[in-house]
Amino acid sequence: MQKIPQRLDAAKQVAAALRYDGYVDLSRLSRLDDLLAEQQGEVKVSLNFDQDEQNIAVLWGSIEAEPKLICQRCHKPDVFFINTTFSFALIQKEEDAEHLPEIYEPLLLSTPEINVFELIEEELILALPIVHFHAEGHPDCSESIEGASFRDKDAGTAEKQNPFSVLETLKLKS
Ligand SMILES: [Zn+2]
Repeated sequence: MQKIPQRLDAAKQVAAALRYDGYVDLSRLSRLDDLLAEQQGEVKVSLNFDQDEQNIAVLWGSIEAEPKLICQRCHKPDVFFINTTFSFALIQKEEDAEHLPEIYEPLLLSTPEINVFELIEEELILALPIVHFHAEGHPDCSESIEGASFRDKDAGTAEKQNPFSVLETLKLKS
């Protein structure tokens, strides 16, 4: 599999109806850093540039990824499967979005180049859940949602890292 380029000249790709099947390293998608348990792995990407019967420049394709998310019940990583498709109409100005067929999402090009990585980041972020849990009954997931132990554990960590605990001790002494 080839590496997907970070930037592509939209007009050139559309004129030649180019197709890309490849991958992007998760570590290159920096906007996902805070959302994932780790930045290792690859995102499988398919990009198809074309012009439809109405001469609309289009970019359609799919994104597959298996990032690890932190389970909010047990705080351990869990694999989350993403398989999403997109269909963009590449437009030069906002007014062009008004008469597009409904199957397309408008993608406004502010520069001749498409930042492909940003587009992939955006699609992945949309596909991620706001809060993630292991599947019900998962053997790795030991805590229950309403379990008090979950809160205790959190409190314990907070205590260890509390920068004010020293101040409190000083206050007690004075
Ligand atoms: Zn869990």
